[in-house]
Amino acid sequence: AVGASRILTPEGERLGYAVLILDTTERNHMQAELYKLSTAAEQTADAVMITNPKGEIDYVNHSFELMTGYTRREVMGAKPSILRSGYQEAAFYQKLWEALLRGEPFRDVFINRKKDGAIYYEEKTITPLRNANGTVIHFLSVGSDITRRLQTEERLNYLATHDVQTELPNRVLFNDRLDQALLHTLKTGRTVGVLYLDIDRLKVINETLGHTVGDACLKEIAHRLAACLRPGDTVARFGGDEFIILLDNVAAVDDVSLVTRRILDAVAEPMTLEGRELFVTVSVGISLAPQDATTREDLVRDAEAAMDRAKTAGKNRSQFFTPDMNARAFVRLNMEAALRHALERSEFRLYFQPIVSLADTRVTGFEALLRWQHPEFGLVMPTNFIPLLEETGLIVPVGLWVLETACLQQVAWEKEFSRPITMAVNLSPVQLQQDKLNSEIKSILQKTQIATDRLYLELTEGVLMKQIDKNLITLRELTALGINIAIDDFGTGYSSLSYLTRLPINTLKVDRAFVHDVPGNIHNAKVTQGIVGLGHSLGLRTVGEGVETEGQRRFLSELDCGYAQGYLFGKPVPPAECAALLG
Ligand code: C2E
Ligand code: CA
Ligand code: CA
Repeated sequence: AVGASRILTPEGERLGYAVLILDTTERNHMQAELYKLSTAAEQTADAVMITNPKGEIDYVNHSFELMTGYTRREVMGAKPSILRSGYQEAAFYQKLWEALLRGEPFRDVFINRKKDGAIYYEEKTITPLRNANGTVIHFLSVGSDITRRLQTEERLNYLATHDVQTELPNRVLFNDRLDQALLHTLKTGRTVGVLYLDIDRLKVINETLGHTVGDACLKEIAHRLAACLRPGDTVARFGGDEFIILLDNVAAVDDVSLVTRRILDAVAEPMTLEGRELFVTVSVGISLAPQDATTREDLVRDAEAAMDRAKTAGKNRSQFFTPDMNARAFVRLNMEAALRHALERSEFRLYFQPIVSLADTRVTGFEALLRWQHPEFGLVMPTNFIPLLEETGLIVPVGLWVLETACLQQVAWEKEFSRPITMAVNLSPVQLQQDKLNSEIKSILQKTQIATDRLYLELTEGVLMKQIDKNLITLRELTALGINIAIDDFGTGYSSLSYLTRLPINTLKVDRAFVHDVPGNIHNAKVTQGIVGLGHSLGLRTVGEGVETEGQRRFLSELDCGYAQGYLFGKPVPPAECAALLG
């Protein structure tokens, strides 16, 4: 290329010509290349952009104009960064340049911004173009707008992982998140909490107020639950009236209790739906990884078992999973059959809990408490199987086994420690109805040679009051043998005072429910005081049950309650562990 200019003096006199000669072979070549490229590019539906090595736009096609809203003229010479949305980090562009400078193509999804500000997703490939010498002369970018496709995928993905009604994650997503969380705990050793929630009486709401109200109620609860959680946690709908919550990464069990409290409170707030004020509550079961289980299936099953328990315990409450709850799941299968075999397979155990004299906290005796050592479920607590034993009548042979075993143990201890030791044995109302009871008890007394004045049979209040005349006869016969009768869980039934004075009893056991929050709870403190006072005036021994704290001990002691039983002095333990308490 040649360029020439006249050179003039300031007066305008021509001095000569300045001639500029440039070798533009390279540039011509580039433009030719560009032309070739662009003719092809005009045909395609993809957005094409060509930049020079300085990163300035040399060419865009018509599709680019349509996609971005910029005209060719507007972008010529500008940098592609005019399309940046700001949603991608510097590292993304760094990766891009590293590839391009190595001479390699770069392909990825760009989050870009149109001229009108709208965000779009562009899947594009940028290729460095070289000339014959291998020098990069252009960058060719070819891309297509995949926003719609992503949105469809996103929507499909959303539908597959969410509950449409409440817009909460569904079981699929929950499972996935829980699996992730469990993997994580393996590494960090932190705790994961699973909360299984069931709305109390949603069925009643549906039936009485209609499904519209029921649905609105579900939505409202979903909303409240979500508001109780931290960003990393997940609340999912498990179907029907059930929700499940994943508490990821909790530092302590107390944290789980706290969140649970918050949830119970949040749900219990009155809600106004369709112009009605509604009071809804939930029952919550909690399992923890790794404490309770380490697999997803086990954790969910445990939390559900705990939720079942919370429901039975009276709803609107939470319950942590304990191993004995496995027995509940078992109930539905074949607990009955298993119980029938338990006696012959020697699966029953007796545990003993110390009873102390409050004056000197000396162990004066024990209460025998039944346990079921199941080969699969471990140690099952009596509240889980005694009702079934009673229903099936199995309590009769099992009760006799308990009595005999307890008596044998008492005799062995008295021999070993050479001092009187009392033994309390629980008697089921079903046993009391057996005509043969007294003769069977008598033969056990003879067989074991127990000193009968050290034996206490515990009966609950309600039972004694029911068929009082028949019971009176039975009890008089027993006391004639020298046996003591104790009223268990006293204060929860409705004993009439006149009957109470007629019964041949010698001990009142103050129910744990009253002792549990004395002296702080004024009402319970008064009830406890009343029962102990009643015991005094009737000349009965009194035993405070469920003593767990020093404050409770002192309170009972000041009331002059003779005896106490509770975790403060010792939990129920196998016989081998009792020697230490007696020594
Ligand atoms: P119960 O006769 O009222 O026995 C006392 C219960 O309170 C025991 O529960 C004992 O572990 C628990 N306990 C004792 N101290 C404390 C304490 O400080 N705090 C708390 N939170 N709990 C305490 P367990 O062993 O689970 O027995 C539950 C019930 O099962 C018994 O209540 C009794 O009604 C029944 N039961 C147990 N063994 C037999 C049995 O051999 N025959 C019959 N018929 N019933 C039994
Ligand atoms: Ca008892
Ligand atoms: Ca009791």
